[in-house]
Amino acid sequence: MNEITKRDAPSIATLILCSIAVLTLVQVFVLQVPTSLSAKRVSVVVSIVPQKYFVDQIGKGKVNVIVMVPPGANPHSYEPKPKQMIALSGAKAYLTIGIEFEKAWLQKVLNQNRDMKIFHMEEGIKKIPIRKSVTKQYATKSSIETLSTDTHGDEKLDPHIWLSPILAKTIASNTANALITIDPSNTEFYNHNLKLFLSKIDALHEKIRKILDEKKKKAFIVFHPAWGYFAWTYGLKEVPIELEGKEPSPKELKELIQFARQRGIKVILVEPQFSDRIAKIISREIHGKLIKVDPLAYEWDINLLHVAEIIGEVSK
Ligand SMILES: [Zn+2]
Repeated sequence: MNEITKRDAPSIATLILCSIAVLTLVQVFVLQVPTSLSAKRVSVVVSIVPQKYFVDQIGKGKVNVIVMVPPGANPHSYEPKPKQMIALSGAKAYLTIGIEFEKAWLQKVLNQNRDMKIFHMEEGIKKIPIRKSVTKQYATKSSIETLSTDTHGDEKLDPHIWLSPILAKTIASNTANALITIDPSNTEFYNHNLKLFLSKIDALHEKIRKILDEKKKKAFIVFHPAWGYFAWTYGLKEVPIELEGKEPSPKELKELIQFARQRGIKVILVEPQFSDRIAKIISREIHGKLIKVDPLAYEWDINLLHVAEIIGEVSK
């Protein structure tokens, strides 16, 4: 008996070892299934982080997204790194949003990857100009009307289209169309997700409208004029500190403070991509509330709701 046990003991150990080996093999195999599936996912390139949010809503697990402008970088002056250009080689499509660096870099991106298709997410959106000077803006009493009609001349157009839920619906539809074009076998999947996302945007829009619409027209100061379309959507007035990438002169700053006092503006938004030095000065002068918000945040819906709540709360 003792002999048998002794002889059996190693064979049991071997059995256990074998089972572990088999289990490990099974695990490796099981783990490899999603890996090989993920390798099959289509890859797309986008310019900014909020676009990744849009693609994720529609592509869910089926699309891999490469973002060109890393968090914290300024998309208006960004220069893609050579390493990033190489990373684009496996991507099927570039989804633009219409920001400056795309014009300069798209051709280089195409040279890197000749098979890449370009889709314009800003297609179908009529952009509005960023007004030229602080003084000019203050001279216009109802800038909201001006925003939608003043399109003459070669004024710089506002690229921050993703910050209005209304315009985001066009971006979402364009995103779905792009994904369907490069990956037609999942057409139904993308269309279904688009439908869900569009109703999610509608609900968000209603929520923000309720927060901001009931009260009288509000104004807010912002360092970098990124919230123009948001303001336009909800009848707010965006008063930018920075204009055409420049800080205001001392005279302009004085005018701005005076204007803010007259209008009773209390909200000052600052972006993590820019210095808040001047915003702090203004905040002190008008006893305002300085709030950091990122127009390039990933959680797009939460971010917009957050900004609406700030403006709604502080401007009461
Ligand atoms: Zn910007």
